[in-house]
Amino acid sequence: MDPLPADLPMVSLLPTALPQPMPAAASPEQLEQLTADLRAAGLMPLRSRGELDQLAADAFVYSPILQPLLQGLRAQVGVRGTSADEVMAVAAACARHGVNLTLRGAGTGNYGQAIPLSGGLVLELSGMNRLRQLDPSTGVFSAEAGILLADLEQQLQAQNRELRLVPSTVRSSSLAGYLAGGSSGIGSLRWGFLRDPGHLLGLEIVTLESSPRLLQLDAAKAQALNHAYGCNGIITSATMASAPAVAWQQLVLEAPSWEQALAAAQQLPATALLLNSLCALEGAVARLMPWPHGCPGARGDSHRLLLLAAPDALAPLEALLPRWGAQLIWQAPQGQSRGIPLRELCWNHTTLHARAQEPAFTYLQLLLPQPEGPALAALRQRWGHDLLWHLEAVRAQGQQRLACLPLVRWHSRERLEAVIEHACALGCLLFNPHAITVEDGGLGGVDAEQVAAKASYDPHGLLNPGKLRGWLER
Ligand SMILES: Cc1cc2nc3c(=O)[nH]c(=O)nc-3n(C[C@H](O)[C@H](O)[C@H](O)COP(=O)(O)OP(=O)(O)OC[C@H]3O[C@@H](n4cnc5c(N)ncnc54)[C@H](O)[C@@H]3O)c2cc1C
Repeated sequence: MDPLPADLPMVSLLPTALPQPMPAAASPEQLEQLTADLRAAGLMPLRSRGELDQLAADAFVYSPILQPLLQGLRAQVGVRGTSADEVMAVAAACARHGVNLTLRGAGTGNYGQAIPLSGGLVLELSGMNRLRQLDPSTGVFSAEAGILLADLEQQLQAQNRELRLVPSTVRSSSLAGYLAGGSSGIGSLRWGFLRDPGHLLGLEIVTLESSPRLLQLDAAKAQALNHAYGCNGIITSATMASAPAVAWQQLVLEAPSWEQALAAAQQLPATALLLNSLCALEGAVARLMPWPHGCPGARGDSHRLLLLAAPDALAPLEALLPRWGAQLIWQAPQGQSRGIPLRELCWNHTTLHARAQEPAFTYLQLLLPQPEGPALAALRQRWGHDLLWHLEAVRAQGQQRLACLPLVRWHSRERLEAVIEHACALGCLLFNPHAITVEDGGLGGVDAEQVAAKASYDPHGLLNPGKLRGWLER
Protein backbone atom coordinates (compact mmCIF):
# COMPACT_ATOMS: atom_id res chain seq x y z
CA MET A 1 0.00 0.00 0.00
CA ASP A 2 1.22 3.51 -0.85
CA PRO A 3 2.57 5.73 1.90
CA LEU A 4 0.58 8.91 2.49
CA PRO A 5 0.91 10.92 -0.75
CA ALA A 6 2.69 14.27 -0.67
CA ASP A 7 -0.08 15.95 -2.69
CA LEU A 8 -2.59 16.26 0.16
CA PRO A 9 -5.78 18.18 -0.62
CA MET A 10 -5.66 21.94 -0.15
CA VAL A 11 -9.27 22.44 0.90
CA SER A 12 -10.34 20.38 3.88
CA LEU A 13 -13.63 18.52 3.59
CA LEU A 14 -13.36 17.43 7.19
CA PRO A 15 -14.39 19.95 9.84
CA THR A 16 -11.95 20.88 12.60
CA ALA A 17 -14.38 23.11 14.53
CA LEU A 18 -18.10 23.74 14.89
CA PRO A 19 -19.67 25.98 12.24
CA GLN A 20 -19.79 29.71 13.02
CA PRO A 21 -21.39 32.08 13.83
CA MET A 22 -23.39 30.20 16.43
CA PRO A 23 -26.12 31.74 18.62
CA ALA A 24 -25.40 31.64 22.34
CA ALA A 25 -26.80 28.97 24.64
CA ALA A 26 -29.69 30.13 26.86
CA SER A 27 -28.87 32.11 29.99
CA PRO A 28 -30.24 30.93 33.38
CA GLU A 29 -32.89 33.68 33.19
CA GLN A 30 -34.01 32.61 29.70
CA LEU A 31 -34.21 29.00 30.87
CA GLU A 32 -36.23 29.93 33.92
CA GLN A 33 -38.74 31.89 31.85
CA LEU A 34 -38.89 29.17 29.21
CA THR A 35 -39.53 26.36 31.68
CA ALA A 36 -42.19 28.45 33.43
CA ASP A 37 -43.97 28.87 30.08
CA LEU A 38 -43.68 25.15 29.34
CA ARG A 39 -45.17 24.24 32.71
CA ALA A 40 -47.97 26.76 32.20
CA ALA A 41 -48.77 24.97 28.92
CA GLY A 42 -49.00 21.64 30.81
CA LEU A 43 -45.62 20.36 29.55
CA MET A 44 -42.96 18.74 31.69
CA PRO A 45 -39.46 20.19 31.15
CA LEU A 46 -36.73 17.54 31.35
CA ARG A 47 -33.69 18.92 33.15
CA SER A 48 -31.75 16.03 34.69
CA ARG A 49 -28.32 15.20 33.30
CA GLY A 50 -29.43 11.63 32.56
CA GLU A 51 -32.47 12.76 30.56
CA LEU A 52 -30.48 15.34 28.63
CA ASP A 53 -27.71 12.82 27.87
CA GLN A 54 -30.31 10.42 26.49
CA LEU A 55 -31.57 13.19 24.22
CA ALA A 56 -28.03 13.86 22.99
CA ALA A 57 -27.05 10.44 21.64
CA ASP A 58 -26.77 9.56 17.96
CA ALA A 59 -24.40 7.57 15.76
CA PHE A 60 -21.88 10.38 15.11
CA VAL A 61 -19.41 8.15 16.97
CA TYR A 62 -18.90 6.26 13.66
CA SER A 63 -16.91 9.32 12.57
CA PRO A 64 -13.57 9.99 14.30
CA ILE A 65 -13.84 13.50 12.82
CA LEU A 66 -17.25 14.32 14.32
CA GLN A 67 -16.81 12.44 17.55
CA PRO A 68 -14.44 14.93 19.26
CA LEU A 69 -16.52 17.88 17.99
CA LEU A 70 -19.93 16.62 19.09
CA GLN A 71 -19.23 14.48 22.14
CA GLY A 72 -20.66 16.07 25.26
CA LEU A 73 -22.91 18.56 23.48
CA ARG A 74 -26.40 18.47 24.89
CA ALA A 75 -29.55 20.51 25.31
CA GLN A 76 -30.20 22.56 28.44
CA VAL A 77 -33.80 21.41 28.59
CA GLY A 78 -35.82 18.70 26.89
CA VAL A 79 -39.53 18.31 26.34
CA ARG A 80 -41.80 15.68 24.81
CA GLY A 81 -44.66 16.84 22.61
CA THR A 82 -47.71 14.72 21.82
CA SER A 83 -49.84 17.03 19.64
CA ALA A 84 -49.54 19.91 17.19
CA ASP A 85 -50.97 22.19 19.92
CA GLU A 86 -48.16 21.23 22.28
CA VAL A 87 -45.58 21.75 19.54
CA MET A 88 -47.02 25.23 18.98
CA ALA A 89 -46.78 25.99 22.70
CA VAL A 90 -43.11 24.92 22.74
CA ALA A 91 -42.31 26.87 19.57
CA ALA A 92 -44.00 30.00 20.97
CA ALA A 93 -42.05 29.76 24.24
CA CYS A 94 -38.71 29.29 22.43
CA ALA A 95 -39.40 32.21 20.09
CA ARG A 96 -40.54 34.47 22.95
CA HIS A 97 -37.41 33.85 24.99
CA GLY A 98 -34.95 33.48 22.10
CA VAL A 99 -34.00 29.87 22.94
CA ASN A 100 -32.63 27.48 20.28
CA LEU A 101 -34.85 24.50 19.45
CA THR A 102 -33.59 21.21 18.01
CA LEU A 103 -35.97 18.46 16.92
CA ARG A 104 -35.33 14.87 17.77
CA GLY A 105 -36.87 11.70 16.35
CA ALA A 106 -35.29 8.47 17.55
CA GLY A 107 -31.73 9.85 17.52
CA THR A 108 -30.33 7.34 15.00
CA GLY A 109 -28.74 9.96 12.72
CA ASN A 110 -25.17 9.36 11.61
CA TYR A 111 -23.84 12.90 11.56
CA GLY A 112 -25.15 14.41 14.78
CA GLN A 113 -28.15 15.81 12.91
CA ALA A 114 -30.20 15.91 16.13
CA ILE A 115 -27.36 17.06 18.40
CA PRO A 116 -27.81 20.68 19.52
CA LEU A 117 -24.57 22.55 18.87
CA SER A 118 -25.39 25.38 21.23
CA GLY A 119 -27.62 24.14 24.03
CA GLY A 120 -31.22 25.29 24.11
CA LEU A 121 -34.21 22.98 24.01
CA VAL A 122 -34.65 19.56 22.41
CA LEU A 123 -38.19 18.66 21.37
CA GLU A 124 -38.92 14.96 21.02
CA LEU A 125 -42.08 13.86 19.24
CA SER A 126 -42.38 10.10 19.77
CA GLY A 127 -45.83 10.76 21.25
CA MET A 128 -47.08 12.00 17.85
CA ASN A 129 -47.35 8.51 16.42
CA ARG A 130 -50.61 8.03 14.55
CA LEU A 131 -51.24 7.00 10.98
CA ARG A 132 -53.84 9.67 10.26
CA GLN A 133 -55.05 8.59 6.85
CA LEU A 134 -54.49 6.06 4.06
CA ASP A 135 -56.26 6.46 0.74
CA PRO A 136 -56.96 2.87 -0.39
CA SER A 137 -57.28 3.88 -4.03
CA THR A 138 -53.89 5.64 -4.32
CA GLY A 139 -51.93 4.36 -1.34
CA VAL A 140 -51.15 7.94 -0.31
CA PHE A 141 -50.93 8.22 3.46
CA SER A 142 -50.51 10.90 6.12
CA ALA A 143 -48.81 10.05 9.38
CA GLU A 144 -47.56 11.97 12.39
CA ALA A 145 -43.93 13.01 12.73
CA GLY A 146 -42.86 10.72 15.55
CA ILE A 147 -44.39 7.45 14.35
CA LEU A 148 -41.80 4.66 14.26
CA LEU A 149 -41.26 3.47 10.70
CA ALA A 150 -41.76 -0.14 11.82
CA ASP A 151 -45.18 0.72 13.30
CA LEU A 152 -46.12 2.65 10.20
CA GLU A 153 -45.00 -0.25 8.02
CA GLN A 154 -47.13 -2.67 10.03
CA GLN A 155 -50.22 -0.49 9.69
CA LEU A 156 -49.68 -0.03 5.95
CA GLN A 157 -49.18 -3.76 5.47
CA ALA A 158 -52.57 -4.42 7.03
CA GLN A 159 -53.91 -2.53 3.97
CA ASN A 160 -51.58 -4.33 1.52
CA ARG A 161 -49.29 -1.33 1.15
CA GLU A 162 -45.68 -0.75 2.17
CA LEU A 163 -43.22 2.12 2.52
CA ARG A 164 -41.26 2.66 -0.68
CA LEU A 165 -38.04 3.49 1.16
CA VAL A 166 -36.87 2.64 4.66
CA PRO A 167 -33.50 3.03 6.34
CA SER A 168 -31.84 -0.06 7.77
CA THR A 169 -32.85 1.51 11.12
CA VAL A 170 -36.50 0.94 10.17
CA ARG A 171 -37.15 -0.75 13.51
CA SER A 172 -36.01 2.24 15.55
CA SER A 173 -36.25 5.46 13.55
CA SER A 174 -39.11 7.91 13.15
CA LEU A 175 -40.88 9.18 10.04
CA ALA A 176 -39.91 12.85 10.42
CA GLY A 177 -36.37 11.94 11.49
CA TYR A 178 -35.95 9.86 8.33
CA LEU A 179 -37.36 12.64 6.14
CA ALA A 180 -35.29 15.38 7.77
CA GLY A 181 -32.12 13.41 8.42
CA GLY A 182 -32.05 10.39 6.10
CA SER A 183 -31.78 9.99 2.35
CA SER A 184 -32.06 6.46 1.03
CA GLY A 185 -32.00 2.82 2.11
CA ILE A 186 -33.89 -0.37 1.42
CA GLY A 187 -36.00 0.30 -1.65
CA SER A 188 -33.47 2.71 -3.20
CA LEU A 189 -32.77 0.16 -5.92
CA ARG A 190 -36.33 0.69 -7.19
CA TRP A 191 -37.32 4.06 -5.81
CA GLY A 192 -34.15 6.13 -5.70
CA PHE A 193 -33.71 8.71 -2.97
CA LEU A 194 -36.11 10.36 -0.53
CA ARG A 195 -35.56 13.73 -2.20
CA ASP A 196 -36.65 12.42 -5.61
CA PRO A 197 -39.93 14.11 -6.57
CA GLY A 198 -42.98 11.92 -5.96
CA HIS A 199 -42.15 10.45 -2.55
CA LEU A 200 -42.98 13.39 -0.27
CA LEU A 201 -46.37 14.83 -1.19
CA GLY A 202 -47.01 17.27 1.61
CA LEU A 203 -46.12 18.34 5.13
CA GLU A 204 -47.90 19.82 8.10
CA ILE A 205 -45.46 22.08 9.89
CA VAL A 206 -45.24 24.49 12.80
CA THR A 207 -43.22 27.67 12.43
CA LEU A 208 -40.87 29.01 15.08
CA GLU A 209 -42.40 32.40 15.87
CA SER A 210 -43.91 33.97 18.96
CA SER A 211 -47.29 33.30 17.32
CA PRO A 212 -46.48 30.03 15.56
CA ARG A 213 -48.42 29.06 12.44
CA LEU A 214 -49.63 25.54 11.64
CA LEU A 215 -49.14 25.28 7.87
CA GLN A 216 -50.10 22.68 5.27
CA LEU A 217 -47.37 22.58 2.61
CA ASP A 218 -47.93 21.00 -0.80
CA ALA A 219 -45.29 18.74 -2.38
CA ALA A 220 -43.37 21.64 -3.95
CA LYS A 221 -43.18 23.67 -0.73
CA ALA A 222 -42.50 20.58 1.41
CA GLN A 223 -39.38 19.78 -0.62
CA ALA A 224 -37.38 22.53 1.14
CA LEU A 225 -37.76 20.66 4.43
CA ASN A 226 -36.81 17.29 2.93
CA HIS A 227 -33.31 16.49 4.29
CA ALA A 228 -32.92 19.86 6.02
CA TYR A 229 -32.10 18.48 9.50
CA GLY A 230 -35.11 20.26 11.00
CA CYS A 231 -33.44 23.64 10.41
CA ASN A 232 -36.34 25.26 8.61
CA GLY A 233 -39.60 24.09 10.16
CA ILE A 234 -41.06 21.62 12.66
CA ILE A 235 -42.70 18.71 10.89
CA THR A 236 -45.82 17.49 12.68
CA SER A 237 -47.18 15.25 9.93
CA ALA A 238 -46.11 14.02 6.47
CA THR A 239 -48.06 12.90 3.42
CA MET A 240 -46.27 10.36 1.27
CA ALA A 241 -46.70 7.84 -1.51
CA SER A 242 -46.54 4.14 -0.67
CA ALA A 243 -46.14 0.99 -2.81
CA PRO A 244 -48.22 -2.18 -3.12
CA ALA A 245 -46.97 -4.67 -0.53
CA VAL A 246 -44.74 -7.52 -1.78
CA ALA A 247 -43.87 -10.65 0.19
CA TRP A 248 -40.13 -9.98 -0.06
CA GLN A 249 -37.82 -12.97 0.16
CA GLN A 250 -34.46 -12.57 1.85
CA LEU A 251 -31.73 -14.28 -0.18
CA VAL A 252 -28.02 -14.68 0.50
CA LEU A 253 -25.84 -15.55 -2.50
CA GLU A 254 -22.20 -16.49 -2.47
CA ALA A 255 -19.79 -15.78 -5.35
CA PRO A 256 -16.29 -17.25 -5.59
CA SER A 257 -14.50 -14.02 -6.64
CA TRP A 258 -15.05 -10.31 -6.06
CA GLU A 259 -15.17 -9.73 -9.82
CA GLN A 260 -18.07 -12.20 -10.12
CA ALA A 261 -19.89 -10.66 -7.15
CA LEU A 262 -19.45 -7.20 -8.70
CA ALA A 263 -20.71 -8.44 -12.08
CA ALA A 264 -23.84 -9.82 -10.39
CA ALA A 265 -24.36 -6.52 -8.54
CA GLN A 266 -24.04 -4.63 -11.83
CA GLN A 267 -26.25 -6.94 -13.88
CA LEU A 268 -29.04 -8.04 -11.54
CA PRO A 269 -30.66 -4.57 -11.20
CA ALA A 270 -30.82 -4.43 -15.02
CA THR A 271 -32.94 -7.61 -15.27
CA ALA A 272 -36.73 -7.76 -15.07
CA LEU A 273 -36.53 -9.44 -11.65
CA LEU A 274 -38.44 -7.50 -9.00
CA LEU A 275 -35.78 -6.63 -6.41
CA ASN A 276 -36.11 -4.25 -3.49
CA SER A 277 -32.49 -4.20 -2.44
CA LEU A 278 -29.11 -5.59 -3.36
CA CYS A 279 -26.07 -5.32 -1.15
CA ALA A 280 -22.66 -6.77 -2.05
CA LEU A 281 -20.09 -7.46 0.65
CA GLU A 282 -16.54 -8.52 -0.03
CA GLY A 283 -15.41 -11.54 1.95
CA ALA A 284 -13.51 -9.57 4.59
CA VAL A 285 -16.68 -7.59 5.38
CA ALA A 286 -18.98 -10.62 5.19
CA ARG A 287 -16.80 -12.34 7.78
CA LEU A 288 -17.54 -9.53 10.27
CA MET A 289 -21.34 -9.83 9.96
CA PRO A 290 -23.68 -11.69 12.34
CA TRP A 291 -25.73 -13.80 9.89
CA PRO A 292 -29.38 -14.76 10.44
CA HIS A 293 -30.12 -18.08 12.14
CA GLY A 294 -29.65 -20.90 9.68
CA CYS A 295 -27.42 -18.88 7.33
CA PRO A 296 -23.87 -20.25 7.33
CA GLY A 297 -21.17 -17.86 8.56
CA ALA A 298 -18.87 -16.40 5.90
CA ARG A 299 -15.60 -18.28 5.52
CA GLY A 300 -12.69 -18.47 3.13
CA ASP A 301 -12.47 -16.26 0.07
CA SER A 302 -16.09 -16.10 -1.03
CA HIS A 303 -18.09 -12.88 -1.32
CA ARG A 304 -21.75 -12.28 -0.58
CA LEU A 305 -24.80 -10.68 -2.15
CA LEU A 306 -27.82 -9.91 0.01
CA LEU A 307 -31.07 -9.58 -1.95
CA LEU A 308 -34.67 -8.78 -1.21
CA ALA A 309 -36.56 -10.31 -4.13
CA ALA A 310 -40.21 -10.87 -5.03
CA PRO A 311 -41.37 -14.50 -4.85
CA ASP A 312 -41.66 -14.71 -8.64
CA ALA A 313 -37.99 -13.71 -9.01
CA LEU A 314 -36.66 -16.86 -7.35
CA ALA A 315 -36.83 -19.30 -10.25
CA PRO A 316 -35.36 -16.96 -12.90
CA LEU A 317 -32.71 -15.83 -10.43
CA GLU A 318 -31.55 -19.39 -9.80
CA ALA A 319 -31.29 -19.88 -13.55
CA LEU A 320 -29.02 -16.81 -13.80
CA LEU A 321 -26.66 -17.68 -10.95
CA PRO A 322 -24.24 -19.86 -12.99
CA ARG A 323 -23.32 -16.73 -15.01
CA TRP A 324 -21.48 -15.46 -11.97
CA GLY A 325 -20.54 -18.83 -10.49
CA ALA A 326 -22.86 -17.85 -7.63
CA GLN A 327 -24.91 -20.03 -5.30
CA LEU A 328 -27.99 -19.38 -3.22
CA ILE A 329 -26.94 -20.32 0.31
CA TRP A 330 -29.87 -19.10 2.41
CA GLN A 331 -33.40 -17.84 1.96
CA ALA A 332 -36.31 -16.87 4.21
CA PRO A 333 -39.37 -14.66 3.88
CA GLN A 334 -38.80 -11.16 5.26
CA GLY A 335 -40.24 -10.87 8.75
CA GLN A 336 -40.16 -14.63 9.31
CA SER A 337 -36.48 -15.38 9.96
CA ARG A 338 -34.78 -15.52 13.33
CA GLY A 339 -31.74 -13.52 14.35
CA ILE A 340 -30.66 -10.44 12.38
CA PRO A 341 -32.84 -9.83 9.31
CA LEU A 342 -31.07 -8.95 6.03
CA ARG A 343 -32.40 -5.38 6.27
CA GLU A 344 -30.14 -4.99 9.31
CA LEU A 345 -27.02 -6.21 7.56
CA CYS A 346 -27.01 -3.60 4.82
CA TRP A 347 -26.65 0.20 4.50
CA ASN A 348 -25.16 1.60 7.67
CA HIS A 349 -25.90 -1.53 9.64
CA THR A 350 -22.94 -3.08 7.84
CA THR A 351 -20.78 -0.35 9.39
CA LEU A 352 -22.42 -0.88 12.78
CA HIS A 353 -21.68 -4.63 12.82
CA ALA A 354 -18.14 -4.18 11.50
CA ARG A 355 -17.40 -1.58 14.18
CA ALA A 356 -18.72 -3.96 16.83
CA GLN A 357 -15.91 -6.33 15.78
CA GLU A 358 -13.26 -3.71 14.98
CA PRO A 359 -14.01 -0.26 16.45
CA ALA A 360 -11.19 1.28 14.38
CA PHE A 361 -13.40 1.18 11.27
CA THR A 362 -15.08 4.29 9.99
CA TYR A 363 -16.72 4.64 6.57
CA LEU A 364 -17.45 6.73 3.50
CA GLN A 365 -20.48 7.08 1.22
CA LEU A 366 -19.69 7.23 -2.50
CA LEU A 367 -21.70 6.97 -5.69
CA LEU A 368 -19.37 5.02 -7.97
CA PRO A 369 -18.61 6.06 -11.55
CA GLN A 370 -19.57 3.57 -14.29
CA PRO A 371 -18.06 1.13 -14.96
CA GLU A 372 -17.33 0.62 -11.28
CA GLY A 373 -14.51 -1.93 -11.53
CA PRO A 374 -11.63 0.40 -12.50
CA ALA A 375 -12.34 2.91 -9.69
CA LEU A 376 -12.56 0.12 -7.10
CA ALA A 377 -9.35 -1.45 -8.46
CA ALA A 378 -7.49 1.88 -8.35
CA LEU A 379 -8.60 2.50 -4.77
CA ARG A 380 -7.60 -1.01 -3.74
CA GLN A 381 -4.22 -0.61 -5.39
CA ARG A 382 -3.47 2.60 -3.51
CA TRP A 383 -5.09 1.93 -0.15
CA GLY A 384 -4.94 -1.85 0.06
CA HIS A 385 -7.20 -3.42 2.66
CA ASP A 386 -7.60 -0.13 4.51
CA LEU A 387 -10.75 0.11 2.36
CA LEU A 388 -13.14 -2.84 2.33
CA TRP A 389 -16.00 -3.08 -0.15
CA HIS A 390 -19.65 -2.74 0.75
CA LEU A 391 -21.86 -1.85 -2.24
CA GLU A 392 -25.56 -0.98 -2.44
CA ALA A 393 -27.55 -0.89 -5.67
CA VAL A 394 -29.45 2.39 -6.09
CA ARG A 395 -31.41 4.22 -8.73
CA ALA A 396 -29.86 7.67 -9.08
CA GLN A 397 -31.66 10.13 -11.34
CA GLY A 398 -33.39 7.28 -13.14
CA GLN A 399 -30.26 5.17 -13.69
CA GLN A 400 -29.17 1.98 -11.96
CA ARG A 401 -25.94 2.73 -10.13
CA LEU A 402 -23.84 1.28 -7.36
CA ALA A 403 -23.19 3.20 -4.17
CA CYS A 404 -20.17 2.20 -2.12
CA LEU A 405 -20.11 2.50 1.67
CA PRO A 406 -16.55 1.24 2.17
CA LEU A 407 -15.32 0.40 5.61
CA VAL A 408 -12.28 2.58 6.12
CA ARG A 409 -9.57 1.64 8.57
CA TRP A 410 -8.90 4.84 10.51
CA HIS A 411 -5.33 6.11 10.71
CA SER A 412 -5.50 9.90 10.63
CA ARG A 413 -7.48 12.87 9.35
CA GLU A 414 -4.86 13.42 6.63
CA ARG A 415 -5.13 9.88 5.34
CA LEU A 416 -8.95 9.96 5.33
CA GLU A 417 -8.83 13.21 3.42
CA ALA A 418 -6.39 11.73 0.92
CA VAL A 419 -8.69 8.72 0.39
CA ILE A 420 -11.62 11.08 -0.25
CA GLU A 421 -9.59 13.17 -2.66
CA HIS A 422 -8.46 10.07 -4.54
CA ALA A 423 -12.02 8.68 -4.75
CA CYS A 424 -13.33 12.00 -6.06
CA ALA A 425 -10.51 12.22 -8.63
CA LEU A 426 -11.60 8.78 -9.87
CA GLY A 427 -15.12 10.13 -10.47
CA CYS A 428 -16.84 9.03 -7.26
CA LEU A 429 -19.50 11.37 -5.90
CA LEU A 430 -19.03 11.87 -2.15
CA PHE A 431 -21.90 11.98 0.37
CA ASN A 432 -19.65 12.99 3.21
CA PRO A 433 -20.53 11.29 6.51
CA HIS A 434 -17.94 13.36 8.38
CA ALA A 435 -19.68 16.72 7.94
CA ILE A 436 -21.87 18.75 10.26
CA THR A 437 -23.94 20.85 7.89
CA VAL A 438 -26.67 19.75 5.50
CA GLU A 439 -24.70 21.10 2.56
CA ASP A 440 -21.34 19.53 3.40
CA GLY A 441 -22.98 16.12 3.86
CA GLY A 442 -25.36 14.66 1.31
CA LEU A 443 -26.65 17.80 -0.34
CA GLY A 444 -23.33 19.00 -1.73
CA GLY A 445 -24.21 22.71 -2.00
CA VAL A 446 -26.46 25.46 -0.70
CA ASP A 447 -30.11 24.98 -1.65
CA ALA A 448 -31.59 28.47 -1.85
CA GLU A 449 -35.07 27.09 -1.20
CA GLN A 450 -34.00 25.57 2.10
CA VAL A 451 -32.57 28.91 3.18
CA ALA A 452 -35.67 30.81 1.99
CA ALA A 453 -37.89 28.37 3.92
CA LYS A 454 -35.83 29.04 7.04
CA ALA A 455 -36.30 32.78 6.60
CA SER A 456 -40.09 32.23 6.38
CA TYR A 457 -40.60 29.58 9.04
CA ASP A 458 -37.74 30.32 11.46
CA PRO A 459 -37.00 34.04 11.00
CA HIS A 460 -34.88 34.28 14.18
CA GLY A 461 -32.67 31.35 13.17
CA LEU A 462 -33.40 29.31 16.29
CA LEU A 463 -34.01 25.89 14.72
CA ASN A 464 -31.03 23.50 15.00
CA PRO A 465 -28.50 26.35 14.67
CA GLY A 466 -25.23 25.71 12.89
CA LYS A 467 -26.48 22.93 10.62
CA LEU A 468 -27.56 24.97 7.56
CA ARG A 469 -24.46 26.54 6.00
CA GLY A 470 -26.54 28.59 3.56
CA TRP A 471 -28.11 30.38 6.54
CA LEU A 472 -24.76 31.01 8.26
CA GLU A 473 -23.28 32.45 5.06
CA ARG A 474 -26.24 34.64 4.13
C1 LIG B 1 -26.89 1.67 11.94
C2 LIG B 1 -27.51 2.80 11.16
C3 LIG B 1 -28.06 2.54 9.92
C4 LIG B 1 -28.62 3.58 9.16
N1 LIG B 1 -29.15 3.32 7.92
C5 LIG B 1 -29.66 4.33 7.18
C6 LIG B 1 -30.22 4.09 5.88
O1 LIG B 1 -30.29 2.97 5.42
N2 LIG B 1 -30.68 5.17 5.19
C7 LIG B 1 -30.66 6.43 5.70
O2 LIG B 1 -31.09 7.36 5.03
N3 LIG B 1 -30.18 6.67 6.94
C8 LIG B 1 -29.69 5.67 7.68
N4 LIG B 1 -29.21 5.91 8.93
C9 LIG B 1 -29.34 7.25 9.51
C10 LIG B 1 -30.64 7.38 10.35
O3 LIG B 1 -30.98 6.17 10.95
C11 LIG B 1 -31.79 7.77 9.51
O4 LIG B 1 -31.53 8.95 8.90
C12 LIG B 1 -33.04 7.82 10.38
O5 LIG B 1 -34.15 7.63 9.64
C13 LIG B 1 -33.16 9.04 11.26
O6 LIG B 1 -34.37 8.93 12.00
P1 LIG B 1 -34.47 9.33 13.53
O7 LIG B 1 -35.90 9.23 13.93
O8 LIG B 1 -33.52 8.58 14.35
O9 LIG B 1 -34.06 10.85 13.44
P2 LIG B 1 -33.04 11.75 14.35
O10 LIG B 1 -31.71 11.13 14.27
O11 LIG B 1 -33.66 11.84 15.71
O12 LIG B 1 -33.14 13.08 13.61
C14 LIG B 1 -32.66 13.22 12.30
C15 LIG B 1 -32.84 14.68 11.88
O13 LIG B 1 -34.22 14.94 11.71
C16 LIG B 1 -34.59 16.10 12.45
N5 LIG B 1 -35.97 15.90 12.89
C17 LIG B 1 -36.45 14.92 13.71
N6 LIG B 1 -37.76 15.10 13.89
C18 LIG B 1 -38.12 16.21 13.19
C19 LIG B 1 -39.34 16.92 13.01
N7 LIG B 1 -40.46 16.52 13.60
N8 LIG B 1 -39.33 18.02 12.22
C20 LIG B 1 -38.20 18.44 11.62
N9 LIG B 1 -37.01 17.83 11.78
C21 LIG B 1 -36.98 16.72 12.54
C22 LIG B 1 -33.60 16.15 13.60
O14 LIG B 1 -33.44 17.47 14.10
C23 LIG B 1 -32.34 15.69 12.90
O15 LIG B 1 -31.72 16.76 12.25
C24 LIG B 1 -28.64 4.89 9.69
C25 LIG B 1 -28.09 5.13 10.95
C26 LIG B 1 -27.53 4.10 11.68
C27 LIG B 1 -26.97 4.40 13.03
